[in-house]
Amino acid sequence: MSTSPNPEVSVIVPVYNEEAGLPALFDRLYAALDAFGASYEVVFINDGSRDRSAAVLREQWQRRPDVTRVVLLAANAGQHMAIMAGFENCRGDVIVTLDADLQNPPEEIGKLVEKVREGYDCVGSIRQQRQDTAFRRWASKAMNRLRERITRIHMTDQGCMLRAYSRSVVNAINSCEEVNTFIPALAYSFAQKPTEIGVAHEERHAGESKYSLYSLVRLNFDLMTGFSVVPLQWFSMTGIAISLLSAVFVVFLVIRRVIVGPEAEGLFTLFGIAFFLIGLTLFGVGMLGEYIGRIYQQVRHRPRYIVGAILERKE
Ligand code: UDP
Ligand code: MG
Repeated sequence: MSTSPNPEVSVIVPVYNEEAGLPALFDRLYAALDAFGASYEVVFINDGSRDRSAAVLREQWQRRPDVTRVVLLAANAGQHMAIMAGFENCRGDVIVTLDADLQNPPEEIGKLVEKVREGYDCVGSIRQQRQDTAFRRWASKAMNRLRERITRIHMTDQGCMLRAYSRSVVNAINSCEEVNTFIPALAYSFAQKPTEIGVAHEERHAGESKYSLYSLVRLNFDLMTGFSVVPLQWFSMTGIAISLLSAVFVVFLVIRRVIVGPEAEGLFTLFGIAFFLIGLTLFGVGMLGEYIGRIYQQVRHRPRYIVGAILERKE
């Protein structure tokens, strides 16, 4: 629509192996933005796709060079790092993140932008009639509840990526050097006037979800460890409670030894208790490991992602 160097809206789209769905995305996304009427740019980040996504993005850039930029990452860095790369390479005043699979309808972008125009700096979204598997919906609900309890981040639906941020929030995010992060939560932590709106949700247009159960678990660890030390505190609290209980138990056993004399019954109960405590200890060590592993990645100071090339029109 506009060719001004600083558009009002930047739409950030991370792309990982989405060649099948990209043409439909281009059709709807550009049509929706043209219809909305604000000056815009679309920043695609190819997150080291192994299919033809990069080539398809290049073709789109050649078709609409005035409003398209493509950041090509040299290797897969993960959805949230790809969005970071987009944040660092966008110029809009209102920054919108969007998935490439058309689960978030691009027609909803206007609603989000309007909210930022009204003065909200972080506009979250709540998926209405979410089109995902029952397991994903249930797991999401459980993780939202857990996050609500252990962090200061309050939002209804953390998983929906169709969100809008003001320039100041994105600048704050750009000044972070986090290696493992969760963008909606990070943005919320910098927001002064956050809000949420409902958005429609559709089934994945083409291709498959890029998140296996394993990567979903990893992602949720990023969220919990990145924004809270409550899991660690739970362990120290449980530790204190168990030590107190065991102290009482030892006193009880000593008294019994004096009164009843030597006895060797209740062995299996003791085993039960021991196994429970071993399990708890292992879980605690693992939890500690999650934090230490992240500290380790952070102190190595390796680049979070490597930009291979940026396709953009020279001003
Ligand atoms: N994505 C990415 N890098 C990755 C995994 C995913 O850039 O390592 C992108 C993907 O192309 C999509 C978005 O992140 O645009 C969300 O991924 P997906 O739809 O697979 O996640 P789900 O909707 O199942 O949570
Ligand atoms: Mg999706």
